[in-house]
Amino acid sequence: SIQFSSSTTSMMETAKGLRRPLPDHHLTRVWQTLLLAVAIAGAPLAAATGYQVVGTVGMVTDLVERVAGDRAVVTGLLGAGVDPHLYKPTRSDVRKLIAAEVIFYNGLLLEGKMTDVLIRAATAGKKVHAVTELLEQDYLLQPAEFEGHYDPHVWMDPAAWSQAVAVIRDQLIAHDAAGQATYTAHAAATMKELERLDTYAVKVLASVPKQQRVLVTAHDAFNYFGRRFGYEVVGIQGLSTESEAGVQDIERLVDLLVDRNIGAVFVESTVSDRNIQALIQGAAAKGHRVTIGGELFSDAMGAPGSYEGTYIGMIDHNVTTIARALG
Ligand code: ZN
Repeated sequence: SIQFSSSTTSMMETAKGLRRPLPDHHLTRVWQTLLLAVAIAGAPLAAATGYQVVGTVGMVTDLVERVAGDRAVVTGLLGAGVDPHLYKPTRSDVRKLIAAEVIFYNGLLLEGKMTDVLIRAATAGKKVHAVTELLEQDYLLQPAEFEGHYDPHVWMDPAAWSQAVAVIRDQLIAHDAAGQATYTAHAAATMKELERLDTYAVKVLASVPKQQRVLVTAHDAFNYFGRRFGYEVVGIQGLSTESEAGVQDIERLVDLLVDRNIGAVFVESTVSDRNIQALIQGAAAKGHRVTIGGELFSDAMGAPGSYEGTYIGMIDHNVTTIARALG
């Protein structure tokens, strides 16, 4: 079960916690230029139908849209197929951040190359919140190879993501008290849906025989998923897609596939399938047939407007794809 910490952590405290130096007070050129442009225009960049809220990854933005409803204009920065580990904010992102009153991001260094721009936004008076800020340290996984860093992929566990809903609800109420009843009702409905999703996932994933519950993916995005649903998880690349898989890693994984008689591995929408193809070929060279079990959505949702383009649809798709391929 997930416990709440008694106090919330601000963006600046999070920054200190990560032992990063605080930024100096010189704004980057792009930030400075845009602030100047706003000052000259003398008006907010977006028309004011409700206040502006920005989310980083789709999984965060989807929850914010659900909780905010019509009371805010919600904009997401990272779209389908975009890898958040490597993503650098664009000028257009900075413009959206300037227009926003409240900003939500995943945190735990998922958006590693956005940290500076988020800190600058907080320094400029925006309310900046990590949706993972209420998760207790003993809930979070800290893989050995990532000494000092937590695994950021908590949305893979619907129960944990339900706590993200609580963060969004509380921070929207803090910003817009008049919307309290709306935010509370929307959050409760969303949490109920996530509970149903979790129950469904437990049932479907338990249909796979125990010895076949091994999930081999391109990068290490499924640790929380594995813990929640009782699957052994093997990522070819590390927690971040920045780390490279070596020849020895591939050989070790080929042996695992052969020894455990695992017949399917999975590609991810945000990660190159080069390593997965190397695994399949390596196994074939040893006379063991491995197929691609399907594409999983790990660090981004599917296309906008599609079922997989929602948080619930993305998890549902993953659960169904995994159970079909392994079961
Ligand atoms: Zn990832």
